[in-house]
Amino acid sequence: MTETQTEAGPGSLHLGLDLGVTNIKWAVLRRTGSDWSTVSTGQVPTHADEGSEAVVARMAATAREAMAAHGQVVSLGVGVPGLYDPEAGVTEFLVNMPGRWRGVPVVAPLRAMLGLPVALINDARAFGLAELRLGAARGMRSMIGMTLGTGVGGVIAIDGRVLQGHKGTAGELGHQSIDPDGPWCNCGTRGCVEAYCRADQIAHACGTETVEEAVAAAHAGDRQAIDGLAQTGRYLGIGIANAIILVNPERVVLGGGVAAAGPLLLDAIRDEVQRRVHVTAWEDIDIVPASLGTFAGAIGAGVHGAETAAVRA
Ligand SMILES: [Zn+2]
Repeated sequence: MTETQTEAGPGSLHLGLDLGVTNIKWAVLRRTGSDWSTVSTGQVPTHADEGSEAVVARMAATAREAMAAHGQVVSLGVGVPGLYDPEAGVTEFLVNMPGRWRGVPVVAPLRAMLGLPVALINDARAFGLAELRLGAARGMRSMIGMTLGTGVGGVIAIDGRVLQGHKGTAGELGHQSIDPDGPWCNCGTRGCVEAYCRADQIAHACGTETVEEAVAAAHAGDRQAIDGLAQTGRYLGIGIANAIILVNPERVVLGGGVAAAGPLLLDAIRDEVQRRVHVTAWEDIDIVPASLGTFAGAIGAGVHGAETAAVRA
């Protein structure tokens, strides 16, 4: 891609949108050579109940406002919470998003309304790409990441690139079976990492209403909460050990509210990894919390839009 001088500085500006059930988050990024920085971030309510067409129009309006405030961007990436068709630029199945989203065009209307190249990416892969370029795995060649929230998202990066797979679903680490007869998962199978480690299950194991309360209770010394986080760490550790054996990453990055539990969670994960990984040196692999916070998805979508446009240019 040709880099242009923009009003506010060198390099080129790129926009990322993160479509969530509650909010549409956006991030304006500056790319200078291989260096990325975040210029600005913000969010507007999604109003998903108004239907997919209204939500796509709101994404376009949000993009226009961000451009009006920060200058002309040259690409747009859109993170979506689920499955999509990368060739057709349509959504297929957005977990938890109200309304009809199967086969809804997103790329074509946004490209027409904004006059920009547009690319879609899954929100967990966007999180991983952001952490890889700007965050906790910056400068790494290989990493695995998990986002711990309502569900458990996953991402794999090898040789400096986030794996997308055939339809953008590569790296669904939360949906690997770790127990053949385990509890049912929302994906339709049994014993997934997510079935044990999604937010409501963590809270249940800790005897609290929410993950935030679980972390606070554990830090205050509550035995059930401490044991619940240790159990969560054990199940995560099994999934992470499997992924380490497959990918041999330099770093493991964990996002989401429960990552704030720190050693209460991370030590249990490390213990399980140490117990299970014998084909590579587990001591060399850092397991760390994510560093970019709640706008990581928008930031990663922006990076994906820029890198996809550069490939196609
Ligand atoms: Zn599952």
